[in-house]
Amino acid sequence: MAFSEVAPFAKTGGLADVGGSLPSALGQLGCDVRVVMPFYNRFIEKVEEVKLLLENLPVPFGSHSLAADVYHLSLNNGVVVYFIQRDEFFDRSHLYGTPKGDYFDNFQRFTYFSRAVLALCPGLQFKPNVIHAHDWQSGLVPAYLRHLYGPNEYWTETASVFTIHNIAYQGQFSSGLYPLTGLPSRFFSMEGMEFWGGINFMKAAIVSADAITTVSPRYSEEIQTSEYGQGLEGVLQENRGKLHGILNGVDYDRWNPETDPYIATNYSRQDLGGKRVCKLDLLQEAQLPESLVDRPLLGAISRLADQKGFDLLAAVSDELVDQDIGLVILGVGEDRYHRLLTDLAERHPEKVSVQLKFDERLAHKIEAGADIFLMPSRYEPCGLNQIYSLRYGTVPIVRATGGLYDTIKPFSPATGEGVGFSFDRYEADSFWHAFMEALHFFEQPETWQQIMQNGMSADFSWQSSARQYLELYEKTLAEKRRAAPRVRSEQADSRQKKKTEGRSKRTDDRRQNKVDRKPSKN
Ligand code: ADP
Repeated sequence: MAFSEVAPFAKTGGLADVGGSLPSALGQLGCDVRVVMPFYNRFIEKVEEVKLLLENLPVPFGSHSLAADVYHLSLNNGVVVYFIQRDEFFDRSHLYGTPKGDYFDNFQRFTYFSRAVLALCPGLQFKPNVIHAHDWQSGLVPAYLRHLYGPNEYWTETASVFTIHNIAYQGQFSSGLYPLTGLPSRFFSMEGMEFWGGINFMKAAIVSADAITTVSPRYSEEIQTSEYGQGLEGVLQENRGKLHGILNGVDYDRWNPETDPYIATNYSRQDLGGKRVCKLDLLQEAQLPESLVDRPLLGAISRLADQKGFDLLAAVSDELVDQDIGLVILGVGEDRYHRLLTDLAERHPEKVSVQLKFDERLAHKIEAGADIFLMPSRYEPCGLNQIYSLRYGTVPIVRATGGLYDTIKPFSPATGEGVGFSFDRYEADSFWHAFMEALHFFEQPETWQQIMQNGMSADFSWQSSARQYLELYEKTLAEKRRAAPRVRSEQADSRQKKKTEGRSKRTDDRRQNKVDRKPSKN
């Protein structure tokens, strides 16, 4: 599996959570899983436990080769992680860019990473049945496999699977960089990775991979529409036969109020007493008044990006605060949201606490201490925080899109079923309406407890999702194997044809020479 971020080593969002948990879930099903990621020196915890494995692995890059050192670590759960070290690319203060924008050389960084993944396998004499690449940063892996390495016997029985975690980030670059990929020039076409005259890593992966998945069934439908497809809807429609929606699971070893080491006290569905202690602890940590303990405490943990609905939150924030609630927001991301939220906290210091940082510990404290979790996303491929919230008895209010739609069944007072509140239209009024509905039930403690209990009993562990991935791997590999003899015989035919053509060309050339020579002779 190729990931650009893996928890706990380096993380900006849910991609890393998947990188840190899907491999071990597959391991439990009997797979031998190896994970490859860049060596971000400044992030990788336990660096001292990471051991050098290969020195100077040659990685082709443009017209030359740039050596990588490869480190590795065997995790307790049996998964092996390989780290590709090349400091000029990966020794940075952030993973992809600073709050001001992306790094100028992300094309080079992740072209190199993808190429290194393919150089590494033969380097280790490891022939995977499946290479599973994730998001645009590894998007060239399936393209290399199909268009550059595939014809090599070593790779004919390796299938490629590509997962779209977020179609809004596609890895788009100017066409002038194309030669650095080393891919054949015919692949820079409308059927290949060309997109409006430029390079598009995600498109390269979609057209090349043997199978494509995305992280929720709903999102797999949505991205085939112009509203959500970010320009790739047509390509996805054409490839829908190989597109599957598999919901992300969550790692309940890390996100479980019964065992969570970060929270003030542990609690469970059977004994919710500790949740109030966690709420008081969060109020203290967020420097909000203790008197809010009997009022609804709202939490949000998020990358601060357009996708996440902070403009909706800002639009209703004054009315929210008028309802005598507390609000704790933890996030980091784009400057303009930093400003928007700082302004909100400054206007309501007694009600709103904004923490502009990445803080795993505080994220757990918010999940445990809040009553309500806000996720009014414009779009959400899967979303993990709403699922964590369920396990912590923190009731989510979400926009019904993507994975939020698939995971948050709205509460129905008629049946007593449902785990949260949701709204359809991306409008402040709809969000407000969902909030008022939640508030209405918050004021009825018995009903509220019922909603919390419903959420706490929901099970989104990896087991079933990992099984779906395994079935997909097996099916894709079987198809690949069925095709392999045909591919091999086509290759043999084409080699034969080339030879024959070569021979007849030489014959033709000789004839031509004869013809050509004739006049000179004459
Ligand atoms: P996305 O992948 O779009 O960022 P997800 O909900 O799928 O959103 O996953 C986000 C993950 O990142 C969660 O594990 C969440 O707790 C974590 N996270 C996001 N922002 C922060 C932050 N500022 N501090 C700590 N954890 C964060």
